[in-house]
Amino acid sequence: MRHVSVYILAVASLLALASRDPVVAEIEPGAAVKADACDGDSTKLGVSRVVEIDTTGGVEVGGEGASAKHLLNDGEVVLTFDDGPMKSVTRPILKALADQCTKATFFMVGQMALADPDLVKEVAAAGHTVGTHTWSHKNIHAISLQKAQQEIEAAVSTVSKAKGTPVAPFFRFPYLNATKQTEAYLKSRNIGAIWIDIDSKDYRTRSPKVVEQNILSQLSRQKKGIILMHDIHSWTAAQLADLLKELHDRNYKVVHFVPKTSVETLASYDAAAEKALAAKAAAKAANPIVSRSIVWPMASAPGPELASTSPTGTRRKTGVHYRKVATKPTIVDGVSDDGAPVKVPETKARKGTKAKQDTSPWSIFN
Ligand SMILES: [Zn+2]
Repeated sequence: MRHVSVYILAVASLLALASRDPVVAEIEPGAAVKADACDGDSTKLGVSRVVEIDTTGGVEVGGEGASAKHLLNDGEVVLTFDDGPMKSVTRPILKALADQCTKATFFMVGQMALADPDLVKEVAAAGHTVGTHTWSHKNIHAISLQKAQQEIEAAVSTVSKAKGTPVAPFFRFPYLNATKQTEAYLKSRNIGAIWIDIDSKDYRTRSPKVVEQNILSQLSRQKKGIILMHDIHSWTAAQLADLLKELHDRNYKVVHFVPKTSVETLASYDAAAEKALAAKAAAKAANPIVSRSIVWPMASAPGPELASTSPTGTRRKTGVHYRKVATKPTIVDGVSDDGAPVKVPETKARKGTKAKQDTSPWSIFN
């Protein structure tokens, strides 16, 4: 029965949305969401409808931008996870999503995908949408347009190559911080910017309960929205099963965003990404333990060399979500932003003593 009601909902929404907006199409859930053991199980959250987004010419979805499209009805949410993938967190998140037969969108960081390409495939194989979130989580406002383009393209190519097929042309700005020039660039590349409506603020707490409450309280006020979480925080993973159950029990519906077309990667970045992935694989084969996360084979983002220019572009304030962020070297699982290998201080944890998995490199500023 659930299937029938879902179908009716989808058709009704299709008529409502498609009639006024060529960017958005509705597809019958069964077309994109594989029937599985829990299909038709009303005790599960599931996916109530699948919205296909045409990013041709660029599109903004959600958030507070003047030209943003808002595709959700009251009671609907979209689940999104930024900054990963990171095995210790992404895996339990995938399990919680699978347990509720529901789907999410992952905005992956290029460096993270390069560190664990198999995990990228795992996320995609589970039916989730994979978008990108720059190569190294740079604050776009703080870097030149050329550098921003490199950050975008290196991630698009690396995550695509790690995944095995091109990713969705869905992009999320780090720190929710854009420039007009970068937005124009995304449009020229037919990439959509997916903003957020509900911030879990999982970067400001280590309490699973607080993360869940942050989401549910905003949701009860706003009634719908694209939810931002991060699959680099164990507490985010820890609360997810509860959150999804609450969403189900409170009668919220999950909408799954899927792209109409895959992103078109650029050949020069593809070649660099392939080289980087091959180097990573070779390093791992040579020394599985060390190369896993301590040695980084690359000095910089894959892609053509760019002349350095001074920052350009105007800051786009995104309301309450905007945060000014210092640009400092970041450490990602064994590499600093300047490319130098970094010894990961978690050797003890890897041997099974008190784990420090929660000390994520991104958690210090996002
Ligand atoms: Zn982020």
